[in-house]
Amino acid sequence: MRLVLVGPPGAGKGTQAEILCERINIPQISTGEMLRAAQAAGELPEHLGRQMSEGGLLPDEVVLELIGKRLTEADCRSGFLLDGFPRTETQATGLDRILEKQGAAIDLVVALEVPAERLIERAVYRRADKRTGKIYHLKSNPPPAGAELEHRSDDHEDVVRQRIENYAAMTAELLPFYEKRGVLRRVDGVGDVQAVAERVRAVLPPA
Ligand code: AMP
Repeated sequence: MRLVLVGPPGAGKGTQAEILCERINIPQISTGEMLRAAQAAGELPEHLGRQMSEGGLLPDEVVLELIGKRLTEADCRSGFLLDGFPRTETQATGLDRILEKQGAAIDLVVALEVPAERLIERAVYRRADKRTGKIYHLKSNPPPAGAELEHRSDDHEDVVRQRIENYAAMTAELLPFYEKRGVLRRVDGVGDVQAVAERVRAVLPPA
């Protein structure tokens, strides 16, 4: 199963990716994580590292090369889940070319949908305990007394609104591409983790 998972910031994409990959036993491939690892290992050219920390997208050819290499590794032979890639139509067509060489194609693109106001509410009330890393919501999952709370800088309302707008622009370009092909599945991402996981499972073909 060759999957792409997309979802706006704060929609719980990471959590759903983990559940899905474990369930169908495929690797989760996140270009963001690969790039951060390359940066930490000093393998990412400085100007690209700068572009990343400013929140800009890296050039299509850079990510395509990275993904092209990764998808030839043995653990990807029977499938994978892409997270954070493709982000542009050029990346999507580049991905097609990479897979064509292997006689393969993307089977399904799962798009988690959560209304912007919900995402903003989640982010604005989200707090992390600095010592344990645990995540709380000031209203629906309040932290225990004595927690050392931290509000991530990218969880502030103006930043979240900007990230949601960037995501909307990206999906406006990307989703019609997969919709035309009949592989796009939109999934309601509102609700608890297990309920959303069940909806995701329901759009996959039977094992
Ligand atoms: P992420 O963790 O997916 O938000 O990615 C972190 C950063 O890595 C992004 O802000 C971009 O700078 C870069 N990046 C990750 N994936 C891509 C991609 N598919 N295309 C371009 N840049 C990317």
